[in-house]
Amino acid sequence: MLHLSHQNIQAASIDPITGFPNRAACFNKISQLAKQPASEKRLTVIWIGLDRFKRVNESCGHQGGDLLIFQIASRLRDRTGHHTLWFRMAGDEFVHLSWAEDPDQTEKLASALLDEIGVPLALNNLTLHPTASLGIAAFEPGEFPHACLERADHAMQSAKRAGGNRIVTSGKELVPGRLGIRLAQDELQIENKLHLAIDHGKLHLQYQPIVAADGSLLSVEALMRCNSDQISPGEFIPIAEKTGLIIRLGEWSLLEGATFARRLQSAGQKSSVSINISRAQFSMPHFPQTLHAALLCANVAPEQVELELTESLFMDNSSIVQINLRATKDTGVRISIDDFGTGFSCLATLKDIHANKLKIDRAFVVALPHDRRAFSVVSAIARLGQDLGMLVVAEGVESREQADALLEAGVHAIQGYIFARPMPEDALLKWIRNRK
Ligand code: C2E
Ligand code: MG
Ligand code: MG
Repeated sequence: MLHLSHQNIQAASIDPITGFPNRAACFNKISQLAKQPASEKRLTVIWIGLDRFKRVNESCGHQGGDLLIFQIASRLRDRTGHHTLWFRMAGDEFVHLSWAEDPDQTEKLASALLDEIGVPLALNNLTLHPTASLGIAAFEPGEFPHACLERADHAMQSAKRAGGNRIVTSGKELVPGRLGIRLAQDELQIENKLHLAIDHGKLHLQYQPIVAADGSLLSVEALMRCNSDQISPGEFIPIAEKTGLIIRLGEWSLLEGATFARRLQSAGQKSSVSINISRAQFSMPHFPQTLHAALLCANVAPEQVELELTESLFMDNSSIVQINLRATKDTGVRISIDDFGTGFSCLATLKDIHANKLKIDRAFVVALPHDRRAFSVVSAIARLGQDLGMLVVAEGVESREQADALLEAGVHAIQGYIFARPMPEDALLKWIRNRK
């Protein structure tokens, strides 16, 4: 029978190379410390991951790797004093727990640790210049202790992704988004605002006219707006996509847009309503049913509704996307290729796309009328689109000169501030009446 004494258990939780307690011990310790009564000081985690440790192991062998870990651990312990709480979490990762008076104090300590790690070190016949990625997280009142550890790990990973040899504080990590880089904390705030907007009915659609070369109204694009705190679609759509909220938002805008299409139809307007559909929404197995339900509830003719899909979706060979494309066509709803020219497809792939409309992205339009190369590309897209039986629309047209160049290039219709900005339903109906 196996007898586990207190000493045996303690020995098992100590890493033999560094003398630091291991990962499990760290989880236990942080749970204990988090229970202590609140004080001026905050429990803070610094998570350290050595950069390029695998290369040391590969070039110096595992013994060399162990020696490096031993030396780095000794430096860390010497820097903070023996009584502080160090843990070895994984091969090349350490955690330090401490009580800090303010974030500055922790950042100074992290910076000193980074300097300490960076002192050159002799290993076999090599001089190594070690670097590390550090993540900091301060325990939030009421937070689950393991979540705080996870945030520190996440911040360390973010430091690694940014190239290593740096410190990242949780909530200040840079995360890539569709429109560039933003702070993780900002993203959480936008997500929160979005939840509030959904719960309190603060979302609505605005409509922007798409005008044909002969001046008639070809269609209107439905664009989502969030009333609370004025967050723009450029901010909230990518976050809705990341969090899965886009499915709920998309189903709502499909029904809302189809209902407006019915009102336009009743008002004797032939123009259709274009509704943006995200990749996540279009990849759902129940998408055809959702579309049928929206058409039925809105009691609208399918040809009055158009779906805008980004070009990359058409290149998606997954069976679910292909089934949904076919099912959408079968309903009689029209399909547009949105933002054409910004994805990775080339002109040759257009032959495989069966869409009714092609929308040239604003990126090409802004260069007009002066950039002759942009003009040549737009002319080629317009010609090809037309040959393949599609109507070609240019997006984001702001000036008369741009519109003239686009019409000369063979574009069929124009959408942009030159005619009107996106506007609420009533304003659009008034805009249509006034044009007559
Ligand atoms: P998009 O589908 O390409 O929509 C066109 C965008 O260009 C709109 O931005 C519109 O306001 C803007 N725009 C139109 N004319 C001009 C112009 O002359 N100059 C400039 N600078 N911009 C112009 P918005 O409304 O901010 O929407 C951004 C993107 O958010 C949309 O791009 C679409 O991808 C997405 N989005 C908007 N509403 C929805 C929605 O209901 N569902 C989904 N899935 N995505 C949506
Ligand atoms: Mg669109
Ligand atoms: Mg677009």
